[in-house]
Amino acid sequence: MEDCIFCKIVRKEVPAEIVYEDEHVVAFKDIKPVAPVHILVIPRKHIPDLTAITEDDVELMGRLHQAVVKVAEKMGVAEKGFRLVNNCKEEGGQVIYHLHFHLIGGRKFKER
Ligand code: IMP
Repeated sequence: MEDCIFCKIVRKEVPAEIVYEDEHVVAFKDIKPVAPVHILVIPRKHIPDLTAITEDDVELMGRLHQAVVKVAEKMGVAEKGFRLVNNCKEEGGQVIYHLHFHLIGGRKFKER
């Protein structure tokens, strides 16, 4: 997608602190972190939001979650744990319409 900020990060047209990348996934630091560790994990492929995934994306979603674990290990939060969040569409609080998961950790989150 030409104008998508996260596609631009994937294409390295916009700077980002990339902490992990592979054939399918890119992970980079959120510019407004809400915790000591706040990483956005995204597919290279432009998928607007979680409801837009198709049968073709099933393997990709598995790879993305594998990448989340790798990033968590790399950032030192895999052992103690972390939170993984997807904001989906307007009422979910989604601002950037390129599918992404917030990996947040390094502090204790309240139980619900
Ligand atoms: P959303 O509400 O789930 O769509 O969250 C989008 C997130 O992207 C927010 O936490 C922003 O701080 C983050 N963000 C927006 N632009 C950039 C950027 O250029 N680099 C890194 N993070 C960004």
